[in-house]
Amino acid sequence: AERGGMIGHGGVVVFDDTVDMAEQARFAMEFCAIESCGKCTPCRIGSVRAQEVIDRIVDGEARESNTALLRELCETMIQGSLCAHGGMAPHPVLSALDHFPDDFNRQAVGS
Ligand code: SF4
Repeated sequence: AERGGMIGHGGVVVFDDTVDMAEQARFAMEFCAIESCGKCTPCRIGSVRAQEVIDRIVDGEARESNTALLRELCETMIQGSLCAHGGMAPHPVLSALDHFPDDFNRQAVGS
């Protein structure tokens, strides 16, 4: 719990080193948006906004401030979502940001 780990459905996902973790982070939010029941705002709207912010970060648009915004949005979803669907979706996004920050910098890797 101290390190933000979790065990449960999708708690551990293994990828090889060819995977773009920014794409996977975006997919986590896309899945959240598609499956959201729509009852609460952090999940219903937050997951859509998060995809847009990830796109801006990857495109190099105000990377620093948009990364801070994404982290804040993730925290809002964790704290404010009514159920675990919206509350858990930000965890893989934060994990990708923490451990694979270069994947969010498309220009740095020249792709
Ligand atoms: S967090 Fe749960 S209750 Fe809220 S919109 Fe998402 S699925 Fe519905």
